[in-house]
Amino acid sequence: MADHVSPWMTEELSILRDQARRFLEREFVPHRERWDKAGIVDRDAWRKAGAAGLLCASIPEAYGGGGGTRAHDLVIAEEIGRAGLGGGFGAGSGVHSNIVAHYLLAYGTEAQKLRWLPGMATGDRVGAVAMTEPNTGSDLKSVRTAARRDGDVYVLNGQKTFITNGQNADLIVVVAKTDPAAGARGVSLLVVETASAAGFRRGRNLEKIGMHAQDTSELFFDDVRVPAENLLGETEGQGFVQLMVQLAWERLSCAHGAVVAMERAVELTAAYVKERKAFGAPLISFQNTQFKLAEAKTQAVVARTFVDDLTVKLLAGTLDPTTAAMAKWWTTDTQCRVIDECLQLFGGYGYMTEYPIARMYADARVQKIYAGTNEIMKMLIARAL
Ligand SMILES: Cc1cc2nc3c(=O)[nH]c(=O)nc-3n(C[C@H](O)[C@H](O)[C@H](O)COP(=O)(O)OP(=O)(O)OC[C@H]3O[C@@H](n4cnc5c(N)ncnc54)[C@H](O)[C@@H]3O)c2cc1C
Repeated sequence: MADHVSPWMTEELSILRDQARRFLEREFVPHRERWDKAGIVDRDAWRKAGAAGLLCASIPEAYGGGGGTRAHDLVIAEEIGRAGLGGGFGAGSGVHSNIVAHYLLAYGTEAQKLRWLPGMATGDRVGAVAMTEPNTGSDLKSVRTAARRDGDVYVLNGQKTFITNGQNADLIVVVAKTDPAAGARGVSLLVVETASAAGFRRGRNLEKIGMHAQDTSELFFDDVRVPAENLLGETEGQGFVQLMVQLAWERLSCAHGAVVAMERAVELTAAYVKERKAFGAPLISFQNTQFKLAEAKTQAVVARTFVDDLTVKLLAGTLDPTTAAMAKWWTTDTQCRVIDECLQLFGGYGYMTEYPIARMYADARVQKIYAGTNEIMKMLIARAL
């Protein structure tokens, strides 16, 4: 919302916001349609984003990052969403900067961080995280991809699907079983460097109902020999816990995306209904239009207030996973309802993909599914009752 200043905003973050906005308008927005049609963002766009400081903003400067906080990542992500790039570059850069780079920072050895993070910050190397498999998504501890130790390598076999950045990725954090008999305790994270991974193959760039510019793909690993030193963390079997620790932040960033989408939907719709006429009067003059937009705006403000509060907690290091799960399910569910109501006010134009509201409708749907489905969020909340 143009009139809203989050309690976690600072002067420095506002400057970053303006810089990001100008960069995205100039360098990325003109390519949006083309990227949607191609099903992928240009590889070179990643390097441009890196040069503009839009990647790995919260990674320390010692590893090539921006040296900022999670608030820097959020400001950048918000601007990407406002520019209508959330379903393409936004989803990919979120996984890259907010998730993969932070796995490396939190669990990598000094040598691993120095080897991988600088290239991620420049955009020369694109990151992905591969958890989901054709037969298991929500039940992460049941992954079948196996990493068998053989001397100084792991031999990796398995298949992943729905992997964000799957076509562009050079560094893939793969969730694999190093001990298939040990359930969650047998899960480890292995970093696959695709350039040197014989036996690694990318499958289809999957066709989706939304997020068209995002390369979401299948990945195949057939006897890929991964150096043992690419294990994240000092010992095997820590993968499940490593993933869980990071998920609170990942879920809050989904909630942030939901808030920005709602705010944008309300703004676009309010502008449209003031222009468009029916029965000789602007749509805004009908009480139904006013009430629907009043509801949508209220929901956006409630969501923003909740998410701002959690952001303050995140920055103070006190965000708990249960509250992050609440934010993830509630804001993404509300996002889908708000955008649906807004689209309705556009009439037939709302169904045309040349109108941003139509793309936002299709992009929104996945928010209830990825980063842990909203049903899984409710299970986590219920467990803590
Ligand atoms: C566009 C997109 C991008 C993605 N990006 C990535 C990525 O980068 N990396 C990655 O690893 N994965 C990614 N995913 C995968 C995503 O995280 C999974 O699709 C998600 O976790 C759900 O897993 P699933 O598809 O196997 O569904 P399932 O686990 O089969 O679930 C199907 C349904 O059953 C429900 N369900 C499952 N278990 C329970 C239960 N115990 N109680 C109640 N209901 C339950 C679910 O909520 C869901 O409604 C992506 C998915 C999409 C669509």
